[in-house]
Amino acid sequence: MKWGLIGASSIAENRMIGAFRESGDEIIAVQSSNAGHAAEFAARNDIAQSVTDLQQLLEQPGLEAVYISSTNEKHFDQAMAAIAAGKHVLCEKPLAMTISDAVGMVRAAEKAGTVFATNHHLRNAASHRAIRDLIRQGAIGEVLSARVFHAVNLPEALQGWRIDSKGAGGGVILDIVVHDADTIRFHLGEGPEEVTAMTSTGRLGKGVEDGVMSVWTMPSGILVQTHESFTHAHAGTGIEFHGTDGSIFARGVMTQNPNGEIILRRGGEATPVSFQPEDLYQRGVRAFGDAVQGKGRPAADGRDGVASLAVALAVSEAAETGQRTRVDYGGF
Ligand code: NDP
Repeated sequence: MKWGLIGASSIAENRMIGAFRESGDEIIAVQSSNAGHAAEFAARNDIAQSVTDLQQLLEQPGLEAVYISSTNEKHFDQAMAAIAAGKHVLCEKPLAMTISDAVGMVRAAEKAGTVFATNHHLRNAASHRAIRDLIRQGAIGEVLSARVFHAVNLPEALQGWRIDSKGAGGGVILDIVVHDADTIRFHLGEGPEEVTAMTSTGRLGKGVEDGVMSVWTMPSGILVQTHESFTHAHAGTGIEFHGTDGSIFARGVMTQNPNGEIILRRGGEATPVSFQPEDLYQRGVRAFGDAVQGKGRPAADGRDGVASLAVALAVSEAAETGQRTRVDYGGF
């Protein structure tokens, strides 16, 4: 497949360009609003063309799909233009800044008949697929609760718009809660109805939150507790599911890398669960390519991206108002 990159970003450079090329795909051009940055990015990454104008990218001969990894407030307009040009779209999370925009993107792609996916990489982790299998097989019985630990130390290189620009979609809620919401939906097959939350700010965040804890109630009655942060250097990440017959403890699995460990505990017995590590982003690109060929669906589609954004926006509102907040899935 022939790709165009919209956004000359760190995630494109550090993860996605390799994932596209490993999958046998080609990157024909990159678009960035800054000509110098675009040209340097293209040269560094062996991409033949760099442009500043989005339409110029979309008019490249043979272009089939675009990967959008600009700052969050740009995703909507860029995705709508790409869909209007008949391109398949792999869009970074959060899909947009509002639910109505995110729903609009997904509906536009559905109407155009193009593939539209959200780059929620954690669904592609072998660890998470193993956890989901355990839950589905009934290894822990009926699930009662889940806990997500996703408090990390935001690397200095990423401490730009994420920590000071509300307008660009900064803050830990739009950055990390979306991933946790998607991961919980992936495991449990349902999303929260209501949430409560509190945030922290000021250690790293300037005008945006740099930490959040939230509690979610699921339609089935399952309770979910989450912790996301930019300021925790030593906490490590993890996810736990607790059921009537056992518990799953997974450590080091809320990351970009294919690592971590899983323990299934039943009574006094603790059993390590093995999985075959695989690059998360490569698997996502492969699933996207298959979907374009009519074979299956992307790992996380547009509707998954709407749902994860809906949860994040509810968490944000709950923290701001101090109220228990209903999640608005925009009619999906
Ligand atoms: P970056 O800050 O690296 O890049 C975002 C945009 O900032 C670029 O598209 C470009 O804007 C501008 N920019 C960056 N560097 C320069 C520079 N030196 N000079 C001029 N402009 C520059 O973003 P990230 O890679 O951290 O994040 C991009 C998107 O990807 C976000 O939506 C984020 O949420 C998502 N993301 C997803 C991850 C995942 O695992 N799924 C992980 C990390 C990020 P422009 O496009 O206008 O030229």
